[in-house]
Amino acid sequence: MTIHKLAIIGLGLLGGSIGLAVAEHLPHIATAGYDSDSDVRRRAAERGLVSQVAGSAAEAVADADLVILCVPVGAMVKAAGELAGSLKAGAIVSDVGSSKRTIGAALAEALPDGVVLIPAHPVAGTEHSGPDAGFAHLFHQRWCIITPHQGTPPEMVKALVMFWEALGAMVETMDAGHHDRVLAVTSHIPHLIAYTIVGTASDLEEVTRSEVIKYSAGGFRDFTRIAASDPTMWRDVFLHNRDAVLDMLDAFLTDLAFMREAIRAGDGETMYDLFTRTREIRRSIVALGQDDSRPDFGRSDHK
Ligand code: NAP
Repeated sequence: MTIHKLAIIGLGLLGGSIGLAVAEHLPHIATAGYDSDSDVRRRAAERGLVSQVAGSAAEAVADADLVILCVPVGAMVKAAGELAGSLKAGAIVSDVGSSKRTIGAALAEALPDGVVLIPAHPVAGTEHSGPDAGFAHLFHQRWCIITPHQGTPPEMVKALVMFWEALGAMVETMDAGHHDRVLAVTSHIPHLIAYTIVGTASDLEEVTRSEVIKYSAGGFRDFTRIAASDPTMWRDVFLHNRDAVLDMLDAFLTDLAFMREAIRAGDGETMYDLFTRTREIRRSIVALGQDDSRPDFGRSDHK
C-alpha cells in the first residue's frame, strides 16, 4: 500500500508535529489538515504545518490514503463521525490517542466498513499544546505503539509501521489492553502524582506559595513541568483508561504505604534498597537513549 495523501485531524502538538515531520522526511506525501478551532487553522496555515488547511474534516480526508486523528481522546469518536462519510475506500484510519482499548473499540463502531482502523500511540510529547508547540523531530528515537485489531491486513499494518519509522520513530505492536496497563504505570500514574503533589504543595497552609516557587529546585520543579500538561488531554486519559489506572494506582498505593511504614519505623535499609533499585532504572533509560545523563539544573546554559 502506498501513501500519496495524508489527512491530519487536529493540528495541535501531535498533529502539527506529524505534518512537519512528513514535510521533512516524506516530502512526496501531500498533507491536508483540519482543526475545529479557526484560530488553530489560521496558525497552522501560517506555520505550514500541512500543505493544505481544509475548511472541514470531510474536505481534508477526501482522497486520503491515511487519516490520523490527533484530537483529545474524548473527542475521537466525534471527529471520526464528522469524516466517516467522506473516507476513501481502503483508507487507513489511525490515531495518536494516549489510551487505546476503549477508544479503539469506539472508533471501530464509528467508522464505516471498507476502511482499515489501526490505532497507534506515539510515546512522544511535551507539556506544551496547540499549533505552535509542534516540531518535526518530536518522534526521533521515540517509541510508537501500534495496537491493530485481530484480522487487520498485515500489509496495512506494515504501511503504518513504515510511515512511523520514516518519521524517526521505533515501532512496537501490542494488544490495546496491554498498552493501557503499561502506559498507566509509565505515563498516566506519573502524571497523576505530579498533578497531585503540585496541588498538595499549593494547598499547604504553613508553606507559602512564594516558598514553594523559591525552593522548587529541590525536586518540586520537575513535577511542575509534568503538571503543566494540557488539562483536557489528561482529563480524557483518566476518563478513558480508568480500569488500568485504578489497578496500577492500587499497586502504587500499596508500595507508598510500605515506604510510609519504613519511614515511620526508621528503616533505612528498606529505603536504601529501593533507592538503589530505582537508580538502576534511571541508568537503563539513559543507556537506551531515552534521556541523557547530564545533570539538569533547569538552566538553558547547561544544555
Ligand atoms: P492539542 O495540542 O490540544 O491539539 C488537539 C487539537 O484538536 C486542538 O486544537 C483541538 O481544538 C482539536 N480538536 C478537538 N476536537 C476536534 C475535532 N472534532 N475536529 C478537529 N479538531 C479537533 O493536543 P495534543 O497534545 O496534540 O494531543 C492530541 C492527542 O495526542 C491526544 O489524544 C493525546 O492523548 C495524544 N498524545 C499527546 C501527547 C502529548 O504529550 N501531548 C503525547 C502522545 C499522544 P480545541 O482545543 O478547540 O478543542
